[in-house]
Amino acid sequence: MHDDLRLETLAHTKKILIKIGSAVLTGADGLDLKIINSLVAEMSELVHQGYSVVLVSSGAIASGKHRLNITGKLKSIPEKQAAAAVGQGRLMRIYSKSFEKKGIHVAQILLTLSDLTNRQRFLNIRNTLSTLMDWKVIPIINENDTVAVDEIKFGDNDNLASMIANIVEADLFINLTNIDGLYDRNPAEFKKARFIGLVSEFTDEIEAIATAETSSVGTGGMKSKVLAAKKVTAMGIPCIIAPGKKKKILTDIISGKEIGTLFLPMSDRLNSKKYWIAFTLRSRGKLIIDDGARKALLEKGKSLLPSGIIDVEGDFALGDPVSCVDSEGTAIAKGLVNFNSAEIRKIMGLKTAKIEPTLGHKDYEEVIHRDNLVITITKQNTKSKL
Ligand code: GLU
Repeated sequence: MHDDLRLETLAHTKKILIKIGSAVLTGADGLDLKIINSLVAEMSELVHQGYSVVLVSSGAIASGKHRLNITGKLKSIPEKQAAAAVGQGRLMRIYSKSFEKKGIHVAQILLTLSDLTNRQRFLNIRNTLSTLMDWKVIPIINENDTVAVDEIKFGDNDNLASMIANIVEADLFINLTNIDGLYDRNPAEFKKARFIGLVSEFTDEIEAIATAETSSVGTGGMKSKVLAAKKVTAMGIPCIIAPGKKKKILTDIISGKEIGTLFLPMSDRLNSKKYWIAFTLRSRGKLIIDDGARKALLEKGKSLLPSGIIDVEGDFALGDPVSCVDSEGTAIAKGLVNFNSAEIRKIMGLKTAKIEPTLGHKDYEEVIHRDNLVITITKQNTKSKL
């Protein structure tokens, strides 16, 4: 059955970001060539129809592990990294061979989080991806597992894909996984679990049901898929979580069939830079703000001035990302600071006119300018406190 809402949501789709999880790509005998070939055929068809396709693919670790005949779980991080190093090449070779048969070239892109937190590198990656898309080459992206340790890790490919959606400004994010979509309870445990075909708002219920931390293959699980959906819909990009092993899945999704779970884009979409601040950068410190400043940020769309700051936590430099936390300890916003932490400690609580006499310079009036500030608290929570 076709659904009008879906057709409407998909009407202007040109650039599609597809993420395929390890659980879709692998079977009992390692990489499942049948599935890969059939997804490749569908993606190629989309490219031939004029869509741009960007692929985030897992499967390196699972493939490497199988190649080396390792049974049981890989325990240590170096073991996983080594397995990824073995598997990534094989994964690319299979994709490359399969796509070439359909007349399409592919490109390998391996990234760590630190490649994206640096604005210059972020923009370089954006240029490369857009050139590849102009050339009708499909970029196949994965975490650079061999070098990624905690500090520079995306954590899982759902998170990586949500950041790529921002970079390429995708019109649609399709997250292919090993279950039909989102259920109100884990369907593997509860027979009566109810399927949720449409999410139009991130209510507490939706966030709470995404409890399964991990699946048996891959690192994601439903929780990280819902979080990734939340991130991309905040940018105005619809997301569909769908069963990757189902025949003709991509064709069905694009033709508007009611399949998988559709997450509608949020109405207040963030622009690319604000999205980058909110979801790619990690905070380097905290500014504790008073109720007046809280109101100014949340209700009036204002910048953060020194007068509303009551405390500073952490040591950070000019331009660093910092969280704004209210007097009850709730993080409400994140932004790039115009002063370092030592300077803010000196000017906090003061009127703007006192910045220059105190610091000896006044390059900025705002501690965080509105253009570099993004509200991170959800609407439901803002209301209850004001
Ligand atoms: N990068 C990992 C791999 O290719 C997978 C990470 C994930 O599934 O989230 O094996």
